[in-house]
Amino acid sequence: VLVRPPDVILPSRASIDRAKIELERRLGPSKVLTGEDACGAYANDDSDVEGRRADVVVIAASAEDVAATLAIAEACEVPVTPRAGGTGRTGGAVPVAGGIVLATHAIARIKEIDRANLVAVVEPGVVTGVLHAEVEREGLFYAPDPNSLDSCMIGGNLGENAGGPRALKYGVTSDWVLGLEACLVGGRVLRTGKRTVKGVTGYDVTALLVGSEGTLAVFTEATLRLMPKPPGIATALALFVDVRAAAAAVGAIVAAGVIPRCLEMLDAATLAAVRGAGVAVDERAQGMLLIEVDGESAESALLRVGEVVSASAGLVDIVVAQDGTQRDRLWAARRMLSKATRKLARHKLSEDVVVPRTKIVDLLERTDEIGEATRVRHLTYGHAGDGNLHVNFLWDHDEERPAVDRAIEMLMRATVKLGGTLTGEHGIGVSKAPFLAFEQSEELIGIQKQIKDVFDPKGLLNPGKIFASRGHAGC
Ligand SMILES: Cc1cc2nc3c(=O)[nH]c(=O)nc-3n(C[C@H](O)[C@H](O)[C@H](O)COP(=O)(O)OP(=O)(O)OC[C@H]3O[C@@H](n4cnc5c(N)ncnc54)[C@H](O)[C@@H]3O)c2cc1C
Repeated sequence: VLVRPPDVILPSRASIDRAKIELERRLGPSKVLTGEDACGAYANDDSDVEGRRADVVVIAASAEDVAATLAIAEACEVPVTPRAGGTGRTGGAVPVAGGIVLATHAIARIKEIDRANLVAVVEPGVVTGVLHAEVEREGLFYAPDPNSLDSCMIGGNLGENAGGPRALKYGVTSDWVLGLEACLVGGRVLRTGKRTVKGVTGYDVTALLVGSEGTLAVFTEATLRLMPKPPGIATALALFVDVRAAAAAVGAIVAAGVIPRCLEMLDAATLAAVRGAGVAVDERAQGMLLIEVDGESAESALLRVGEVVSASAGLVDIVVAQDGTQRDRLWAARRMLSKATRKLARHKLSEDVVVPRTKIVDLLERTDEIGEATRVRHLTYGHAGDGNLHVNFLWDHDEERPAVDRAIEMLMRATVKLGGTLTGEHGIGVSKAPFLAFEQSEELIGIQKQIKDVFDPKGLLNPGKIFASRGHAGC
């Protein structure tokens, strides 16, 4: 039932042996893992892309280690898959061509938090939640908050241009990156961007690298923008008779001039999973919004939201968190959704399509139609404020998998037809590569391939990702 790895060229045994000898010589044997179990531990990420054991895993401890690895990779013509926390959802960190996994989790210093310039300089192995805690201790704020923040890392967030619930108000990772240090295949080091608030010198290579899914360069440092921590936060749950009523309220809240920092939506099947996980939710509710506002006037903004939601059709109840503990409890329920819904079936695939906010109801309708046509169970939750919905397909038996594949393809086509995009945060990786041409023209894909060639002419960095190779399992 796994997504088969793409048909990529594997390195020769002789190249791998040469690379292993060189890596051990340059980095020392403690940073170079070659055992079956050790390499096996880096074969997968959090997607259903079939794992492949790398031939060698480098645990880089510094930017110099990264540069040395990429120099050896080029000299020996061995592919390299960069990796951080391994929580990716589309197979980005799966070494589908074998070769070297370049693990960057041990390059993990927060090198600087500069209060006057509102800048942090961090390494790729810093866990996102740790960065949040460190800057918040200083009264500062780094907004990107993927729900995996306890285990994903800045390197992976840069790779995927990760977002999270707060993206509605504060944007995604790329909106917080000022500059990068990145290493190219061959070992050359590139410094991009700036440390200043403004700066438009040359092409925006920083923006190009963020979201490049480890296919162009390996990040060794990021200069991130910070802001003062918003002074007030107010959080509420709004319960509705169905998810369509909840979706309609999303548009009404934004139209009323309030931009919440989070506006998360859960459908009936997701709520059933939440109840199943032991969280008490009013049985009348078949749709829910988790709404959070912040700033000096958070309380009055939430009051305004309350007025709008109360005037919306289909409201069952609205519950306001009275303190931080209650807020944490509401968020704990949201953050455990991925795991709670996983228990509903033997297999689950979570897509992350995005549609314009005004098309959410249409997408929900299309999803129901797809479910009926393919007879695949599904549920939907996600960052409704920015139209980014996790449509999850569930199944128990392997023979259902072809129907699931049909459902996914139909969802991708429907999303594009509604003016949306294939992925809001998980990236294309291996899983979505077969659908790239649904959204992008041949010309646009061609230009991106040319850019890839400029950075990596031998195609050694994270092969098999983004662009479906010939013979790709999904084609
Ligand atoms: C429970 C759960 C919830 C999630 N919720 C969200 C969410 O709300 N929002 C969201 O955006 N994502 C979410 N994700 C997906 C995932 O956590 C993100 O994509 C995250 O950014 C991946 O980070 P990572 O450190 O695990 O990266 P990895 O999985 O290790 O790598 C991801 C990609 O980045 C590349 N990469 C890694 N390190 C580097 C480096 N140093 N240099 C260059 N490229 C590199 C890899 O090659 C790969 O292509 C969720 C995942 C799970 C399991």
